[in-house]
Amino acid sequence: IIVDGMGMEYPGIVTVGSIYNTGPSNSQELKNMVIHEIAHQWFYGIVSNDPYSDAWLDEGFAVFAASLFKLSKLKETEDYNSMYRPDPNLELPVNLPLNQYESNMSSYVYGKSARKLWELFKDNGEVKEAEKFLKIYYHFYKYKEIDTKEFVRFVKYYFDLKDDTLFEGWLELEK
Ligand SMILES: [Zn+2]
Repeated sequence: IIVDGMGMEYPGIVTVGSIYNTGPSNSQELKNMVIHEIAHQWFYGIVSNDPYSDAWLDEGFAVFAASLFKLSKLKETEDYNSMYRPDPNLELPVNLPLNQYESNMSSYVYGKSARKLWELFKDNGEVKEAEKFLKIYYHFYKYKEIDTKEFVRFVKYYFDLKDDTLFEGWLELEK
């Protein structure tokens, strides 16, 4: 962990310090950044994806895994119901190529995507089931590259879904 420069993940190493053009972060922000960048060692480092066309897959999963870590290991309390409510003004899907977002790319790629991942478990055992899902997803896709289409295939199989309604409003399926 190198505490200098911009928050960024690399294989086996992370840098933390600031987010883009903002100044140095306070210690709580630094801690959160360390957790986020380390989560990328799994989601980006081991389960790979195209970071331009499908950025949500590593960023959304890193945010999702980091919040699971905070809930179960750091025993931070957060109301489950507050974790999956996306901002209704964010109408775009989360899996557009980066050039198709304007200034609010991170609200989609980091924010809405992680909230939608949490929503998968709202009637399905919440945190415990989310951990189980993440573990199976990781073991299934480690050292492989995943894209939105494969994610959808996995989720439909995992939850035994008959159609694509679960993905409406957040994933563009005809890419
Ligand atoms: Zn990230």
